[in-house]
Amino acid sequence: MSAVADEVIRQHLIDPAICIRCNTCEEACPVGAITHDERNYVVKPDVCEGCMACVPPCPTGAIDNWIRVLKSDAWSIDEQFTWDELPEEAPLPVATAAPSANGVAADSDALAADAAAEAKAVLAEAAGFDRAESTAAAVTKRPGSTVKPWSAAHPYVNLYGPKNPVTATVVGNYRITEADASSVTHHVVLDFGTMPFPVLEGQSIGIIAPGADAWGKPHHPRQYSVASPRNGERPGYNNLALTVKRVTSDHDGRPVHGVCSNYVCDLKKGDTVQVTGPFGTSFLMPNHPRSNLLMICTGTGSAPMRAMTEYRRRLHAGGRFESGRLMLFFGARTERELPYFGPLMKLPRDFIDVNLAFSRMPDQPKRYVQDLLRERADEVLALLQDKHTCVYVCGLKSMEEGVLDALRDAAAQGGVDWSELAGRLSGEGRLHLETY
Ligand code: FAD
Repeated sequence: MSAVADEVIRQHLIDPAICIRCNTCEEACPVGAITHDERNYVVKPDVCEGCMACVPPCPTGAIDNWIRVLKSDAWSIDEQFTWDELPEEAPLPVATAAPSANGVAADSDALAADAAAEAKAVLAEAAGFDRAESTAAAVTKRPGSTVKPWSAAHPYVNLYGPKNPVTATVVGNYRITEADASSVTHHVVLDFGTMPFPVLEGQSIGIIAPGADAWGKPHHPRQYSVASPRNGERPGYNNLALTVKRVTSDHDGRPVHGVCSNYVCDLKKGDTVQVTGPFGTSFLMPNHPRSNLLMICTGTGSAPMRAMTEYRRRLHAGGRFESGRLMLFFGARTERELPYFGPLMKLPRDFIDVNLAFSRMPDQPKRYVQDLLRERADEVLALLQDKHTCVYVCGLKSMEEGVLDALRDAAAQGGVDWSELAGRLSGEGRLHLETY
């Protein structure tokens, strides 16, 4: 045992039983301490500085695990890759120094005296302090809120995990992209019967495909955004809708058979599904009157936008709510593969301002959502500067940079400092990015 072997550290670990593999932590880590393989997200013990930047954005709390180990015994990432659940904290040798949140070692007797309670208290304090700082750091790195809008409803999360999933029944499964479109997307409705499953627009759920992965272990749940309002796909029913695209090629275009997306798209009415969740504590809509929604999406990123729009439409139709402005930028290859194209086009223009960008229309120049954002830069900036506006961006990861650049350009065109504005929007829970 070396000299450092006496040092006790609080090793930062991710609970594989709760983690939904959304990649948020890896994106948030400023020092590259988090990585993943096909099964697990793990933390490199020699790189993690315990800065907490990854903790607030995690939708499940799987990231917030700290176990005391001897430094020389810290679990390697290769060991973490094999885990299905976190190991128990092992008793520490008596003649060791105690850890503390600031890294100063204490006497071993102090550790013995209710070490668990002490460590917890120290951690809670450290977490509270570091969170404020790390949120600011995360904003500098990549804009985006880790807090919800002030008037959003309270979200319930993690009611069901991989070990205690809830069973839902498929009550509808419809293909919503045209037969000749190059991608296949389904609208799937799940009913929870008498089981509680409260969700808000902007939250997501996990679905566990049956069978096992290449290691013989159960498939980890895949996440899908809820596409229906909080009061159900059918108002008053305990059901919700999803917008699921069949994955038939990977991000590099190579043919692949996506495990869960194909399972979900093939489901028949009456089939049952294992569901985890709900997830997500920040990508939520404001509830106060006259609040505006600026929604920017591509493909299945339309799911949360459909949920929010439909919730506002129901309130509006019932005359119960004075809505602010709804402005939608929606991109797809063609209108034939734009989910919900028909119903969207039937919404009154004075209710929602719809801007569609198609990138593969025959005989037409390619247009992306960022092109439309630039074309309407004045109105976009006016909305961004309105304190009642919340911005939502959802879709494939590849869209994010272009959209943020277009928002930056819109700000610059109006003489506004984008980094200041983005920092303010992020801090106030008004700039939400969910790309996958
Ligand atoms: P896998 O078997 O996991 O992957 C097969 C291969 O395809 C892998 O190489 C993988 O890298 C690649 N791949 C994974 N996803 C994609 C993709 N989207 N496009 C191209 N290649 C991919 N999906 C939806 O359809 N609708 C949603 O509303 C939705 N919401 C999401 C919300 C969040 C917060 C997150 C993190 C993801 C969301 N996803 C959504 C993506 C979804 O969770 C799955 O990743 C996707 O369905 C692929 O899962 P799979 O099991 O079919 O593919």
